[in-house]
Amino acid sequence: TDTGSQKDRVVTKEEWLQKWETGNIGFHKEQGHPLLQKHLDVLLNGRSGLRIFFPLCGKAVEMKCLADMGHNVVGVEVSEQALKEFFAEHSLSYCEEPVPEISGAKKLQSTSGNISLYCCSIYDLSSSIVGKFDAVWDRGALVAVNPRDRQHYVSLMITLMEKNSSYLLVTVSYDPNKHKGPPFYVPESEIKSLFG
Ligand code: SAH
Repeated sequence: TDTGSQKDRVVTKEEWLQKWETGNIGFHKEQGHPLLQKHLDVLLNGRSGLRIFFPLCGKAVEMKCLADMGHNVVGVEVSEQALKEFFAEHSLSYCEEPVPEISGAKKLQSTSGNISLYCCSIYDLSSSIVGKFDAVWDRGALVAVNPRDRQHYVSLMITLMEKNSSYLLVTVSYDPNKHKGPPFYVPESEIKSLFG
């Protein structure tokens, strides 16, 4: 399939911030994503007390659900507004602190301590800052990163995974000549070569 029309497209940080400011967030699912519900057992694989990563998290409601189940949730998101809306909409109190390793970044952490959301670019993170994860929920993340950054994104994600971690990935399938994205179309063959 020809993905040529999308491969050079760039969505800037400012454009994402503006989507949040104008409420142009059709990607947000107020009731959570049906595919996480459906495949939650695969993600958890019978384990409890996991460290679960939400790359490009937005205000995904499952961060609250998984934390309520006893897991530790870590997210990263460039929009501080998104993260503040997350805490407000779930009536969660949180505290804010700078991240010494990343200039300009902030960590917003629920008072209960089991939800830590980094306000910065995912490309600023490393395992020495956030540690490694037992599970990753990738929805609206691989398909949202600029096509030219995909390999960088995936290589980074691999460095953030524990040995026996599970990774649930949601993609979308459509004719990339008919929509400029995001979400971008990522062919299955490319997913295989990216993750190896
Ligand atoms: N995963 C969420 C949001 C998907 S939309 C959900 O399923 O609802 C993609 C999100 O990624 C937007 O909120 C955008 O602000 C954020 N984003 C875009 N580029 C980013 C980057 N480089 N680092 C961190 N967040 C980013």
